[in-house]
This record gives sequence, structure tokens and C-alpha cells, in this order.
Amino acid sequence: MAFDISRARSETPGADEVLHFNNAGSSLMPQSVLDAQIDHLRLEARIGGYEAAAVAADRVEHVYDAAASIIGAQPDEIAVIENATRAWDMAFYSIPFQPGDRILTARAEYGSNYIALLQVAARTGATVEPVPNDEHGQLSVAALREMIDDRVRLIAITHVPTNGGLVNPAAEVGAVAREAGVLYLLDACQSVGQLPVDVEAIGCDMLSATGRKYLRGPRGTGFLYVRRDVIPTLEPPFLDNHAATWTAPDQYTVRDDARRFENWETNYAAKLGLGAALDYASSWGIEVTWERIKALAERLRAALADVPGVVVRDLGVERCGIVTFTVGGVGGQVVKERLAAQSINVTVSRTPSTRLDMEDRGLSEVVRASVHYFNSEAEVDRFVEAIDGLSRS
Ligand SMILES: *Cc1c(COP(=O)(O)O)cnc(C)c1O
Repeated sequence: MAFDISRARSETPGADEVLHFNNAGSSLMPQSVLDAQIDHLRLEARIGGYEAAAVAADRVEHVYDAAASIIGAQPDEIAVIENATRAWDMAFYSIPFQPGDRILTARAEYGSNYIALLQVAARTGATVEPVPNDEHGQLSVAALREMIDDRVRLIAITHVPTNGGLVNPAAEVGAVAREAGVLYLLDACQSVGQLPVDVEAIGCDMLSATGRKYLRGPRGTGFLYVRRDVIPTLEPPFLDNHAATWTAPDQYTVRDDARRFENWETNYAAKLGLGAALDYASSWGIEVTWERIKALAERLRAALADVPGVVVRDLGVERCGIVTFTVGGVGGQVVKERLAAQSINVTVSRTPSTRLDMEDRGLSEVVRASVHYFNSEAEVDRFVEAIDGLSRS
């Protein structure tokens, strides 16, 4: 069946305003996501914030069902958190590391995660060890297997790095983690909403995701998954009246579901927008979404590779909707600005966001054009013409 591009575009208010190839930064919201938020803000203004939350209680609960469903989890394994970084942090900073513990990570690990790894290593005496890549540039599962010993406490890797089309072999890593009985934390910020993600098939214990990227939700939304039997072993670094209950003058009890990683005050309009985004993503179906994204991205890579001076920089066996490249003699910021002048949105990924990977490849920056299913073939062609124009000027 042909992809219903006209539906996808007509339900996206920004589709004809901009050529948006910044879906890995923050995608364009569909109308239903926008409406869910505005309707709730209006209700808050009319009847009061707490009262509006009570009216919306079922829809707020539904956010957990919808998030669980998109990753094959249970609702009590989900915490809704303001972004993927904080979601990841709440899991990571809960792990009681001991001196000598080893943390294995990937060479394309995200900067914010890596900074946290370094901070905790310095505090606890744990070590941080990136697993080498294989010949395709993805994490080498064989190398990982060789690094496993009794001192490995955590495997923390990124599924789809922020700076390229690479998809790390998350499920093969999960098989190693399970065999070794090691905790496995997966940063799925760029993969949830883009490609099929199933926590059972992957075998991760914890997973972080964001709302605004491939899920097309509001900014300032994200969620954390923690496997049911792992939840009681992780006491969050921060507790409050929502994560715990003050049961006696000198006692408290931590709640027993994943909401122990949340905090009390939250942006309900945004949370409902996230729920709408999850429902909208499901209405397209993740397989359909993934096929469409891969086809558009491959079309874009093939056409860019033919432009003089352009080098496509994506690694990996299976490549996703994030297309990265450099334009000979034209810096990333200039590319971005010249495209912006034509209402074309991209970002520039620089060394500090994935330092090990960028240094390995001798790169200081790449232009990142990230496509989604609502982008059209005509947009891909117009984009490549625009790049061709600036590589010649
Ligand atoms: C964007 C990104 C993050 C951070 O997500 P936030 O929602 O901004 O906190 C984490 N990991 C990867 C791989 C990302 O691309």
C-alpha cells in the first residue's frame, strides 16, 4: 500500500511552511498534538490547574499506557519525565556503583550521558570503558563480549547516535547483557518513534526516550522505562512527595512503580501532548513509519553523494533517517544559514555532543539532515538542489 503522504502533510500545520529536515532535533507537531496542549491550557485557564488535571485524569493515565505500548512494556514500568536526558539520569544516578565497577559504553555515546558517566566514575571509583567499533562503525558485539567480566556493573549505550545514520545492534548487546547478568541502559532518544523498539526483544533493563524528536510530541517531554524487577533495586537520587510518602516523622517509603523516578509538579498540557503524539505515532504504525523514513533517507544519501564536494558521513550496517554530510570548503554553520534563508531546516552536530566518535573520524562537525515520514520526495530533491547550489557558489 502506498504511503498516505497527503494525509501526513495535511495533518502537519508546518509541512508547507518549512522544509523540515530537523526531525532529530525537534520534529513538526501534528495538529492533534497541538490541539491536546492548547485545549488543556484553555481548560486550566478556565477552571484551575488542579481541577483541569482531575478532569483529564484518564487521559493523563493513558500517556503511560501509550508509552508502554510503543516499546512493548507495562504501564507501571514507565515514568514520564521532562526530557530524555533527565530520564536517563534518573536511572543512571540510581545505580549504586562501587570502586572498581566497570561501566561499558559506546564510542558514539551522547555527550550528556558521557559527562554523567565521568562524574559518577570520579565520585565512586568506577571506570568508564568505551567498547570498540566493528568494521562498519557500529559497536562491536564481539569486542563487548570479550570485555565482560565480574566487575562489569553496567552497559550503557545509545541506540541511534545523535550525529549520524548509524543504528547500534541494541538487541545483540542485550543478549550479552542478559547472559552476563549485567544491567543494560539504552538511550533510545532517536529511535523511539522512528523504528521498532521492543524492550523484551532488546533485553534492556532501562530505556530513555524523548517526546519532541521522532515521536513528534511537545518540547520538554520524555519518558523512562525501567524493568519491573529492577525498579526495587534502584533508589532515585531525588525523592519528593510523589516519588515517596512521608510515613512517620523519621521515615518514608519509596513508591514501588517506575513513577519513583518522577517528580510531582509537571506540565500537564505537555504531558497530554505527549500522549497525543504516542497515539498519533501508533495510528501510522511503526513499521510503516520506519520503511518510509529509510527510503527517504537512502534517496537523500544517494543524491547528496553525487554532489561535487559533498561527503556523506553516515556509518553502520542499517542506516536510519539521520543523514549527515560535509560540504567541501563550506562550514556547517554557513550551510545551515544559507539553507535557513530558503526556509530549509537542518542542524550542525559538533564534536562535544559525540566526542569519541568525532575524534575517531577526524571530524569537528557534520551537517545533519534528518527526515521523517511526512517529508516528501520533492523535498528531498529540492534539498539536494539547494546543497548543489551552495557547493558551487
Ligand atoms: C537529543 C538526544 C538526547 C537528549 O534528549 P533530550 O530530550 O534533549 O534530553 C539524548 N541522546 C541522544 C542520542 C540524543 O540525540
